[in-house]
Amino acid sequence: MTAIKAYAAQSATSPLAPFSIERRALHPDDVQIEILYCGVCHSDLHTARNEWHNTLYPCVPGHEIVGRVSAIGSAVTRFRVGELAGVGCMVDSCGHCSSCQEGEEQYCENGFTGTYNGPVFGGENTYGGYSQRIVVKESFVLRIQHEENNLAQVAPLLCAGITTYSPLRHWRVGPGMKVGVVGLGGLGHMGVKLAHAMGAHVVLFTTSPGKAADAKRLGADEVCISTDAAQMGRYQGQLHFILNTVAAPHDINTFLGLLRKDGTMTLVGVPEHPHPSPAVGTLIFGRRSLAGSLIGGIAETQEMLDFCAQHQIGSDVEIIPMDYINTAYERMLKSDVKYRFVIDMQTLR
Ligand code: NAP
Ligand code: ZN
Repeated sequence: MTAIKAYAAQSATSPLAPFSIERRALHPDDVQIEILYCGVCHSDLHTARNEWHNTLYPCVPGHEIVGRVSAIGSAVTRFRVGELAGVGCMVDSCGHCSSCQEGEEQYCENGFTGTYNGPVFGGENTYGGYSQRIVVKESFVLRIQHEENNLAQVAPLLCAGITTYSPLRHWRVGPGMKVGVVGLGGLGHMGVKLAHAMGAHVVLFTTSPGKAADAKRLGADEVCISTDAAQMGRYQGQLHFILNTVAAPHDINTFLGLLRKDGTMTLVGVPEHPHPSPAVGTLIFGRRSLAGSLIGGIAETQEMLDFCAQHQIGSDVEIIPMDYINTAYERMLKSDVKYRFVIDMQTLR
């Protein structure tokens, strides 16, 4: 065990502050990573403030991790000391249920172990990437092919990237499809980039008129201000698929009505309070579907990272020092992120 520096919330109402944690001594199949950058996901904020009513304190968030391998266990074969590596939202799962066998560890029937706030044998919880170092089982560590000088832009792919890539692939988004992305935050801006790279015609729905020009630069073909009924009216019954990334409760009927017959809207946002229930008529007339999707499996996360490296896709980031995190959370709540905060972990050393 070695003590390292981290940032933790001690309760739902206390700001994040410096904290010392320990990382386990390496098991034979463990990889030890010195964290270089960690993205700031809205889930970090939901968890730090116990908005999902399941947070164990102290809580060290962070599940968009990139860094350099500094040690490996005796049985590790895929990583060498000095190489870049990534860690996303999961650090373990049961490995034997049907979901794990299918490579979809995020749906592990026995519950995957989250990178933070996950259960650890002995009654403790896992500590995430707002820290200097992490020790993770090799099978949950991702390879990074991106160029090293763009590393900060790679970190958000480990959650925002895979959470948008997985549903776009599952619902077979591609050329000839009109796809809506709702919300231009961390997830939404990756959804726009990825749907565009997959060949779809992308319509971005935003509550922030000031983001329209950026949305087009990021890959949106059209931008609709979702609070403007006249603009929304133009898209009634037009879209094959909608990826809704909004982190707050809102009227999802207004978006369901934009789907064509047999269209699907997939929710990935997990707001603190529920959305008002959707009207069944909007679903029935048009045989529309409302769905959900959770991050992505390890194999698909690697596929997404390789796809992004090949297409030179990274996140648009604002790099921040560790001690800016509480301000970053407040800005995230005001939708004032362009489009992902990423912590430079050197600032914690
Ligand atoms: P984020 O960066 O804060 O982006 C959310 C965006 O939603 C905002 O930028 C804003 O976009 C829009 N928005 C915010 N409040 C709104 C409101 N009241 N009405 C309408 N739109 C609103 O958050 P994120 O990191 O992308 O995360 C989004 C959600 O996904 C969070 O709930 C997070 O916990 C969840 N999440 C889920 C998974 C999963 O596996 N399913 C994984 C990661 C995160 P505009 O300014 O463009 O309107
Ligand atoms: Zn996340």
